[in-house]
Amino acid sequence: MSNEEQLRDNIETFTNFEPLSDKEREILNEVVKAMQKLPTIQCTSCKYCCDGCPVNISIPDVISALNTLRMYGEDARPRFYYGNLVERSGRAGECIACGQCESVCPQHLPIIETMKEASEIFDKE
Ligand code: SF4
Ligand code: SF4
Repeated sequence: MSNEEQLRDNIETFTNFEPLSDKEREILNEVVKAMQKLPTIQCTSCKYCCDGCPVNISIPDVISALNTLRMYGEDARPRFYYGNLVERSGRAGECIACGQCESVCPQHLPIIETMKEASEIFDKE
């Protein structure tokens, strides 16, 4: 968490918290192991990075397009998705590497590098 708003958001999530059962924990661990083997970027789409982006890049959506490409290889879906996305938000290639997003990302993702990768794939058509 990077600010009071995120803290309040998390407190609300855990109000009336009930711990997981042993069986649920076991299943969760299996899911985590399976996810760690995927070649995808582990963005949770929390959107904490979005508001402060000076060029209005919809960062989790760009990552989502990139993840789809990494998972399924070249096909039209991620390019179509990205094309629609950048009609209403910034292109990955417009990233000015200000670092705002990385300073608030709870997953500590290398967003600047990721925007470069996405731009090389999706902006050069
Ligand atoms: S580093 Fe790039 S993506 Fe991140 S907030 Fe700055 S301009 Fe936006
Ligand atoms: S802050 Fe990090 S985890 Fe959250 S949406 Fe942005 S890139 Fe994804």
